[in-house]
This record gives sequence, structure tokens and C-alpha cells, in this order.
Amino acid sequence: MRHLLGWGSTFIRNSSWTSALHKILPKRKKKIYNLGVYFEPNDVTAYNPSQLSDSQFLEYSNLSDGQHLRQAVQNILIPRVVGTTNHSIVRQYIVDSLRDLKWHVELNSFHDKAPIVGELHFHNIIATLNPQAERYLILACHYDSKFMPDAPDFVGATDSAVPCAMLLNLAKVLEEQLRPLQSTKLSLMLLFFDGEEAFEEWGPKDSIYGARHLAKLWDKQGKLDRIDMLVLLDLLGAPDPAFYSFFSNTELWYMRLADLEQRLARHSLLERYMNSGVVSRDPQRYFQLQALRSGQVEDDHIPFLRRNVPVLHLIPMPFPSVWHTQHDNESVIDYATTNNLALIIRLFALEYLLGAK
Ligand SMILES: [Zn+2]
Repeated sequence: MRHLLGWGSTFIRNSSWTSALHKILPKRKKKIYNLGVYFEPNDVTAYNPSQLSDSQFLEYSNLSDGQHLRQAVQNILIPRVVGTTNHSIVRQYIVDSLRDLKWHVELNSFHDKAPIVGELHFHNIIATLNPQAERYLILACHYDSKFMPDAPDFVGATDSAVPCAMLLNLAKVLEEQLRPLQSTKLSLMLLFFDGEEAFEEWGPKDSIYGARHLAKLWDKQGKLDRIDMLVLLDLLGAPDPAFYSFFSNTELWYMRLADLEQRLARHSLLERYMNSGVVSRDPQRYFQLQALRSGQVEDDHIPFLRRNVPVLHLIPMPFPSVWHTQHDNESVIDYATTNNLALIIRLFALEYLLGAK
């Protein structure tokens, strides 16, 4: 993904400042998505599942398997550029891991042409617990790694091996808790996009190949209405991430994540939470209680967002400093942070899916 303006250390914190900035900036060739305007608070907020009870909260918080998470990261952590043998190996690993856990897994395969490398065969991985469900919460990430001729060893730890591993770990850890969702109308989908990365230069035809294809296909098939929300995970794994609420129509769900983080912190259930020592921030938390409406980050959510699918984008701002460098490898992963985020996301999914009244 990329952002359209340089963020540096002083990033934009409020939307009035952002819109003033848009007015003074020279007109760009590429569209700046000012996404807040597309939405009214709508039906998404009509679904209002109960918060986890104290006993559920404690029970679910104690479920974790850090060793599995680490193994999953390591299994994905190889250069995996679309069209290479490694890419097939990682795809097969994801597919097999989920089928072993009794998920229904299908590939959405298609051809597209990329600069430099030419025609490629892409495969989005779509995993569901109930392929016949009427509505889905989708947790998504991308599994390809960036083609970097000058850094052929680039493994994209945060981009996005860790997010993929977190989703596989969620399926593993919550195997039993998620089983009822094999037959419910509201169910869970895990989506692993292919071809997120640009091959030459990020642009509308050279980026998010898989997401563009799938959003268009599902639009044509009338399936987008079945998506409650697309939760996109990206650039996770480095210490001290800061998240912001990007979209007003999913802000209540963003606040649920922030609440779960605080609830875990209160119960001292987060690992090495306040002292990673890398960034000192006040207040020190992952989910900032701030909106950032500028919508300047282009990522796999864009083709869905443009078709009015509610989106929750879990990407840290600023991006990890190692982004798109060969240093985005296992040494940058902070497993305490990774386990903490994985836990928050698992609780969020359970609250969303099991809290129906
Ligand atoms: Zn990337």
C-alpha cells in the first residue's frame, strides 16, 4: 500500500486541517479519496451485539498459542512474489492450514498483466466456516510479497506475513469457539488477497490486483451486500503501532477494539504492554481515540470502499520504519505486541459474531 502524502513525524491529526490542506495542494493526477463523504451512519450500526460478559471475556482471553503464531509467521516468511514457486508454497500452506481446521477454502484465480513481469496468474484465497451464510464479517490481509529486484531477499514480515499468521492463528486458537459459525446466518470469512503490491510503480493498474478483481466480481454477482464489514490488517508486527479511526461508518466498531484493548489492560492481560521502550506516547495505547478522516492510504480495501462496503482498516500510522526495505524481516517483529494485537482482534471477532441478541 502507499499513502499519498508524506507523513513523516508530524502527521495530520484532524480533518479540518486535512481539508484545508487539500485546497492548497496542487491538483493531483491521482484521486485523493476523501472517503468520509461517501457515508452516512447506516445499517451497520444497527447491528449491536452484546459486549462479552466477564466470564466470556476471561475465558476467551486465556486462549492463545504464541508458539503457533510464531511458527505460522516463519512458514510465511520467505520471499513470495506472485508467480514464483515460493508464492505457491505459501498459498498452499495457508489453504492446508485452514482445511485442516475444517474451513471451506476456495481459490479465486484469474490472469492479469503486470509491468516488468507481464502476464501473471493470481489467486485470492477465500475461507469460510459457512459458505451458505447470509452475512459475513471478513478479516483480510495480503499474502504476496513485494517484487524488489534490488532486494531479492525481501520477506515482508509486517507486510504482510504477520497479519496472515494472525488470521491463521485465530482460526487455530478459536477452533472450538468458532465451530457454531459453520451453520449460522452471520459467519466469518478469512480473505487472503493476492497481488497487493505494485511491480513497478503504485497506480490504479499496478497494485491491489486481487482486491480489484474480487470486488468487481462480487459486485457483478450481487455478493457485496452480504459483507457486514471488511476488516483489513496490514503492516502489523512492529512494536508500538498507533491506529486511528479512518471511517465514520465503522467508528463504533473501532471503539469496540479500543475498549477491548483497555479492558485487557485493566485486567493485566496484555504482554509487556506499557514498556516496549520504542516509542513513548501519551496516552500509551494502540487504538488511539482519534479519527483520521483524510483517507490517504491506498490498500486492498479501496475497491470495496468505493462500492460502499464498510471498512475497518487496521494499519499503523505512521507505517513501520522498515516498510518496503529489506529490514522488514523477522528481527523487526515484536512478538509481545503481535500477540496482544492478535488477542484484541480475536476478542473483537468473538464479540461481533457471538454477541447477537
Ligand atoms: Zn507493501
